[in-house]
Amino acid sequence: MNGWSALDRFLRTDPRDVGCGEAMEMLHIYAELAAAGAPVDERCPGVAVHLLACGPCGEDFEGLLAAVRGQGSLTGTRAPRPHRL
Ligand SMILES: [Zn+2]
Repeated sequence: MNGWSALDRFLRTDPRDVGCGEAMEMLHIYAELAAAGAPVDERCPGVAVHLLACGPCGEDFEGLLAAVRGQGSLTGTRAPRPHRL
């Protein structure tokens, strides 16, 4: 009976998990908040749980987060193409 609980936990979806559809809708907002340093896992726990549980969505989030950070698109505090000489 030992492996049961682990398997059961693995198979059971976290009740907070919002699912792929809602996670995708929230993803760009979530990524911008995360890039800005907001406690997104507290503010959007359902999305945070889903991104951990769902490989494809997690990868999308990583890519989006990198893009948001790279572009500094949140408030325009950083120019998209800084001059560097
Ligand atoms: Zn998903």
